[in-house]
Amino acid sequence: MQAVHEGQCGLCGHFGEGHAKNDVLVSILSKKEADVVFVDDCGHPKHAGLHLKVTPISGCDGFVPAAAA
Ligand code: SF4
Repeated sequence: MQAVHEGQCGLCGHFGEGHAKNDVLVSILSKKEADVVFVDDCGHPKHAGLHLKVTPISGCDGFVPAAAA
């Protein structure tokens, strides 16, 4: 497990946005730590069409804070 910080995908509202929030996403948000081999889709409008897959510690300027569980 590795710490996930503000600005990184694991805490971004676009991380896994295209599907229901699962236990893994909820756990990353609540514990602010993640298994860094985990990947999920980025739902940002500029990335979604490319089916970008990101890890919880990836990031970009499109970050928006995920709504609290
Ligand atoms: S790539 Fe950017 S927009 Fe997509 S989940 Fe990560 S921080 Fe959010």
